[in-house]
Amino acid sequence: MQRVYQAATLMDAQLVFDALQSSGIEATINGAYLSGAVGELPTDATPSVWVIDEADVYRAKAVINELLDPESGVLRGEWYCGECGERCAATFQICWNCGAARPA
Ligand SMILES: [Zn+2]
Repeated sequence: MQRVYQAATLMDAQLVFDALQSSGIEATINGAYLSGAVGELPTDATPSVWVIDEADVYRAKAVINELLDPESGVLRGEWYCGECGERCAATFQICWNCGAARPA
């Protein structure tokens, strides 16, 4: 196993994990409590994404680079809820926190 991404939040880790899975790369998320809602996580949880097979590391990093904005280093396409201000993943159409619709 080798770590390929250190995430700030479990949501980021999950996004990277999903992208790797859909690219056929076996991966896992470590360092986070996977049960329970994101809001209940301890603030010092820093989840990381690992690939199972080290032969996939190069390809995994290419997938992750596609997800990251080259200037800011944060995941592309994230948006901020107009109601509660929470950061939401690109794939979400409603706020995970309060359920408000994604701003146009
Ligand atoms: Zn919200």
